[in-house]
Amino acid sequence: MIICDGMADRSIPELGYKTPLEIAKKPNMDWLAKRGISGIMDTIAPGTTPGSDTAHLALLGYDPYETYTGRGPFEAAGAGIELRPGDIAFRANYATVDKNMVITDRRAGRIHDTQPLADAIQKIKLKGAEFIFKSTAGHRATLVLRGKGISHEVSDSDPHEEGKKPPKIEPRFQSTEGVMPAYPIITGGVRKYVYRRRWAAKTSKILNDFSQKSHEVLKKHPMNIERAKKGLPAGNYILLRGGGVVPHLMPFYQKFELKGACVAAAALVKGVCKLAGMTVVNVPGATGSVDTNLDAKAKAALEQLKTHDFALLHIKGPDEASHDGNLRAKIGIIERADGIINKFIDAVDFIAITADHTTPISFKNHTADPVPVLISGPGVRTDDVKSYSERSAAHGGLGRIHGKDLIPIIADLMGKSHKFGA
Ligand code: ZN
Ligand code: ZN
Repeated sequence: MIICDGMADRSIPELGYKTPLEIAKKPNMDWLAKRGISGIMDTIAPGTTPGSDTAHLALLGYDPYETYTGRGPFEAAGAGIELRPGDIAFRANYATVDKNMVITDRRAGRIHDTQPLADAIQKIKLKGAEFIFKSTAGHRATLVLRGKGISHEVSDSDPHEEGKKPPKIEPRFQSTEGVMPAYPIITGGVRKYVYRRRWAAKTSKILNDFSQKSHEVLKKHPMNIERAKKGLPAGNYILLRGGGVVPHLMPFYQKFELKGACVAAAALVKGVCKLAGMTVVNVPGATGSVDTNLDAKAKAALEQLKTHDFALLHIKGPDEASHDGNLRAKIGIIERADGIINKFIDAVDFIAITADHTTPISFKNHTADPVPVLISGPGVRTDDVKSYSERSAAHGGLGRIHGKDLIPIIADLMGKSHKFGA
């Protein structure tokens, strides 16, 4: 299954109402469309704009409304932290604060190679929970809290703008005198609500303690003193956001009897696959950008298919080009993606091609427009679709499907599904 992130687009008036996918030369995708079945797909639901994380959950057959708990856990898993269900994971940034604790740079001058800072932070002792802190790409890092009676229902300490003090972390939901939010009543009543509030309050305290102690450590760290000498902003404060509890996902293999592998550069996608129990491969040269080494990724996927029934090959480039509003780059990466599909046509039985969501060049962000999807393989029913695009796929035999139904459809075509009833 080849997922070209954000590849789907909208009709562009200046291009005669065509989309980048319609303009790109993609003989292999078109060849497969001719021999397979096409359709359009709402990865989450019609009118619901997907994030890459919720979309990939759905594309692996998980209901995102039941399984998604926030971005933090997926990034932490993608960063290689061995998570346990119940851990609370946050996305983190190294930022710069001045003497008055006002944020002067949310990314600490795009500081990088920060593992020494993370190592120093890891030595801190917190009351009430253990933690794992790890630097990831650039100014980014990830924090995982582990312990009893902790909660992800806490606010961020990242105000998302500079010139402000990082706000104190607080329980995310507050009951104001007698007014209780409607949802705890649905999810288990007042008792549960009281516990959730207590856990959120405890977690807020732990995190505020972490923020203060890590600031003390970072302030004095040699790496930051060195940066100050060079006139560079210090990475002296950790901004936290996107907290989520690590969900328990039923393993992909158990769900579909398919042994799955994942080839991706994007930490978020790797994290989703990791938490689904799939084999996640790190490919040298896979950058998660338009300059990625697609040949190496294709080779890695083919290698995995020797020992796995299913491989997800994720290509991030089209989404990046779309966020930048760069039409040429988008067409370029689509054509390069098409180039590697050739390697799979002779080597594997079933091929599916899709996008996790639409990212129109004109909008520079995700939208809820359905994406084209095609499945080709032995015995797959064909239709009249002769090319792969948003427009042509809408005429295909798959009709309009939900993202979470794609793997069941593929598994059935592969002879892996079980009869419902007698
Ligand atoms: Zn995406
Ligand atoms: Zn995106």
